[in-house]
Amino acid sequence: MIFLSLALCSAQLCAQSLQDRFRKHIEFLAGDEMQGRAAGTRYDTLAVEYIRSELATIDGLTLLGEDGIQVVPYRARIARGDTTRIDKTTFNVVGLIEAGDPQYRNRTLIMGAHYDHLGVRMVDSVMQVFNGADDNASGTAFIIEAARDLANQRASLRANVLIILFGGEEAGEIGSRYYANNPLMPLEKVKAMLNFDMVGRMIRNGITVRGLGSAKEALELYGGFKNPDRIDLIYEMRGNGPTDYSSFYSKGIPAFSYSTRQHDDYHRPTDTMDKVNYEGMEILRNYAWQMVAILAFSEREVTFKDVMD
Ligand SMILES: [Zn+2]
Repeated sequence: MIFLSLALCSAQLCAQSLQDRFRKHIEFLAGDEMQGRAAGTRYDTLAVEYIRSELATIDGLTLLGEDGIQVVPYRARIARGDTTRIDKTTFNVVGLIEAGDPQYRNRTLIMGAHYDHLGVRMVDSVMQVFNGADDNASGTAFIIEAARDLANQRASLRANVLIILFGGEEAGEIGSRYYANNPLMPLEKVKAMLNFDMVGRMIRNGITVRGLGSAKEALELYGGFKNPDRIDLIYEMRGNGPTDYSSFYSKGIPAFSYSTRQHDDYHRPTDTMDKVNYEGMEILRNYAWQMVAILAFSEREVTFKDVMD
């Protein structure tokens, strides 16, 4: 087993190191010390600080908001099952990669993922950590590395790329809705939004993309993609599914959300880092990059469509 992974490593050094970086982020965010990253807790703040400091190391990425942080106020129940509501705070972490050539800076692609999870909860009378390795430390790791990759290639960008890690998704897409209502750059200039939620559990090369109905050209584009990894694609047309892309769809922006298939550990304490398929994350990355090539590296636009049309 050790010899096999060494052999793979020398044959695909670059590929291996991307997976190592995914692993580093997930091991931090989904470790027991992070106590499940529930919105409004101090572990939420610790996750935000980790993400902010990772983005801060990327050359060519500018932190927006207050040093990369948009404060998100919201009201929520004191505890599950309690009806009293109190003021709470969570965050979005926001960074901008401007197109190297100023003539392409009037259009922006948003790429995002939520970083929060469910925290610590009682299960069978025992307090358990909901680590949320797949949901959504995987998407967070994916976006941090996408930011690094895109910033390296900013000379070739034909649009800006706005990177957002959302807080409070598990409490009802709080961070992304707040951003859509309080954008740090004009929403009219956003050409599309790509969301990544639960991308760490690839099984039999299955990928689900939600929101294809939100752009007139989407079916044609996805139909034309190359498929060297034999991706088994399932797609959903509606733009209002239960994750952060819907906050942008509801503002008239074409928005797609990528994930690997649903699994039995979903929203359970067993969604742990040892089950993450890093190779699968890279396969998903390569597939999703065909859409990134169109939206970030070409001037091509997609046209918003109300899915009920
Ligand atoms: Zn999620």
